[in-house]
Amino acid sequence: MQQTRNVSAIADIIQRIRDGASRKKREKILISACLMGEACRYDGGHNYKQIVEKIKTMGDIISFCPEEAGGLSTPRTPAERCGLRVITADGDDVTEAFEKGAKQAVTLAIREDCCLAIMKSKSPSCGNGTIYDGTFTHTLRSGDGVTVEALRAVGIEVITEAEAAIYFTDTHDTHQRK
Ligand code: SF4
Repeated sequence: MQQTRNVSAIADIIQRIRDGASRKKREKILISACLMGEACRYDGGHNYKQIVEKIKTMGDIISFCPEEAGGLSTPRTPAERCGLRVITADGDDVTEAFEKGAKQAVTLAIREDCCLAIMKSKSPSCGNGTIYDGTFTHTLRSGDGVTVEALRAVGIEVITEAEAAIYFTDTHDTHQRK
């Protein structure tokens, strides 16, 4: 089930991270590994985003790919959430691997005391608010990826890379969203 986001809490977290640029103790942020440029995407590519360089100056990054952590190889057949299961384009059920990766993401985020997760949009693992609908026709529906759902269930706030690009620009006023 998709959970409600606490926009006010997210604004406070972003401010804490931004303040960390001038402090010794910096906040930790879990980030989808493909956004950091790691070639862990299903097709062997990545989704590098320049904004991560800015975020690195403010907080400590913990890069993680839940699908690889769950035991899936790269490259791999694309998968989408179909109801409660995750199914590949070839019809294989990979739910177990996705759930294993999600559990590891939660364990890591709690152990490292991550205050925020920045996760790749639309992914069946990392998608946040919008994911593909399970028909493999590039159709989107509302919902979260398996890992994002698990992170939210333990109270970790999640934003997309597009939101991160807005929140972490020099000119952004964190509290304007409250
Ligand atoms: S599972 Fe997440 S981190 Fe891994 S490639 Fe997919 S979107 Fe990126």
